[in-house]
Amino acid sequence: MSHSAVESVQASLDVIGARNGELNAFLQVFEAEAAARARNVDAGETLPLAGMTVAIKDNICTRAGRTTCASRMLEHYESPFDATAVERLEAAGAVIVGKTNLDEFAMGSSCEHSAFGPTRNPWDASRVPGGSSGGSAAAVAAGMCDVALGSDTGGSVRQPAGLCGVVGVKPTYGRVSRFGLVAFASSLDQIGVFARSCADAARVLGVISGPDERDATSAQRDDTDFTGQLGRPPEGLTLGVPSFARDEAVSADTRDVFEATCEALRAAGVSLVDIELPHAAHGVAAYYIVAPAEASSNLARYDGVRYGRRAEGVGSLDELYTRSRSEGFGHEVQRRIMLGTHVLSSGYHDAYYVNALRVRRRIKQDYDAVFARGIDAVLTPTSPSPAFGIGEKLDDPMALYVEDLFTVGANLAGLPGVSVPAGFASVNGRELPVGAHLVGPAWGEAGLMGAAAVIERIRGATGRIATA
Ligand code: GLN
Repeated sequence: MSHSAVESVQASLDVIGARNGELNAFLQVFEAEAAARARNVDAGETLPLAGMTVAIKDNICTRAGRTTCASRMLEHYESPFDATAVERLEAAGAVIVGKTNLDEFAMGSSCEHSAFGPTRNPWDASRVPGGSSGGSAAAVAAGMCDVALGSDTGGSVRQPAGLCGVVGVKPTYGRVSRFGLVAFASSLDQIGVFARSCADAARVLGVISGPDERDATSAQRDDTDFTGQLGRPPEGLTLGVPSFARDEAVSADTRDVFEATCEALRAAGVSLVDIELPHAAHGVAAYYIVAPAEASSNLARYDGVRYGRRAEGVGSLDELYTRSRSEGFGHEVQRRIMLGTHVLSSGYHDAYYVNALRVRRRIKQDYDAVFARGIDAVLTPTSPSPAFGIGEKLDDPMALYVEDLFTVGANLAGLPGVSVPAGFASVNGRELPVGAHLVGPAWGEAGLMGAAAVIERIRGATGRIATA
C-alpha cells in the first residue's frame, strides 16, 4: 500500500529527529513547511513524485530557509529564488524536508571542511561520509529522506554515494540546469541525485533534466526518460575495465570487493573487456588546476559588498575586501583561491592552465575512443578506499585529492557517471560500503542507469538503511 505524502514526510521528520543530532547531515530542517506541502500534495492531483521526501545540498538555492554553502561567508544568505532543479522537483510533487551539509562551497571529499561541523557516516559515526555532498549521502543512507540532490564537480555526488552505500548519479554536462547552483567550477559543475535504488535515481534525474533558458549551458534535449533500460538483462552488456582500476592507490579491501563484483558480473553474462585510458592517471592533476582556476574567478564575487559577510570597523576598501574574505572563507577555500590565482597568473598561465586543458582534451578523447569500440561503460571502483576516519586525512590535502582518482575523468570529459553499491568491506568489525563506478557516453544516461541496475541486482548491496 502506498503511503500518503503526510505519512512519508512525518516518517522522514521522525528519522531526522532521531539521528540528525549525531550525524549532522541536515543544516536546516523545514518541518512546518514540509508538513504543509505534504497536505497540499495529498489534496491535489496525482503527480509523478507525489510525497517523495527530498533533501537539498546547501549550495543549491531554495527560497525556503537559507543557502549557506556551509560557509561563514553565506551564513545568513537567503535566496530570492529556487534553483530550476528544486522548482521541477516541487512541481512533480516531491517534498523538500531540509538542506544538507557539505564541504564549504563544495570543495572537499570528506564533509569535514564545513563551517558548521562535519557530517558523520551512518554506517560508522567515527568515519566521514565522503564529500562534498556528504550530508545528502548520509541523509539518504540513514533513511532520513527518500532521495537528495547534490552537486558534482569532480566526484562530489559519486564518492559520498560510494562511501555511504547509496546510488549517486552525475549526468552529462548540460543535462541538468545549473541555474540556482552556487558556482564552484562552472565548466565541471552538475547537479546530481542520491537514492537508495537505481530506479528512484533514474526517475528523479528525469524530472530535473531538460532545457532551461536560465542556464546558457543547458542542452536542448528532451530525451529525459532514463528508466527504459532498468530491466535490461546482463547478457549483451559490455563494460571496459581500465588498468588504472587496479592502481596501487586502491586499498586491499576495496580491491577485493571490486574483483568479486567483476567475477559476479562475468558469471551473470556481462562481458568485461580490459581497456586503457592512457591519460586517466593525470586526471587529478589536471582537475586541481582547472577547478581552482574557475573557483578563483567565481568566488571573486564574495567581496563584502555585493554578497555575504561584510567585515565591520574597517578603515579602507582594501581592508574591507581582505577582512571580509579572510573571515568568511575557511582554509580549504582560501587554498583553492590561491592555487587558482597562481595557475592563471601571467608567466604561469601557459605552463599550468593551458597544459591542464590539453590533458583534459586527451582524457575526453580516451573515453571517446573506448565508446567508439562498442563499450557500454567504463567500470572502476568509485574511490580508492572505504570511508576513512574523521580527522584522518585533514592535515594532508593531497591525500584527500587522491579520493577523486576515479571520478574526475567524467567531469573533465563532461560525461555521465554513476556510483552503485557493490558490496561491503569489513573494517574493525564494521561493514563499510564499497561502490562500483560507471562512466558512459554523453547523453547515455538511460543506458548507464540500465548498466548500474544490472550491478544492483547482481550484487544485491543496494537499498539497505544504515543503522549503525
Ligand atoms: N573532491 C573534489 C574537490 O574537492 C570534488 C568536489 C566536488 O565535486 N564538488 O574539489
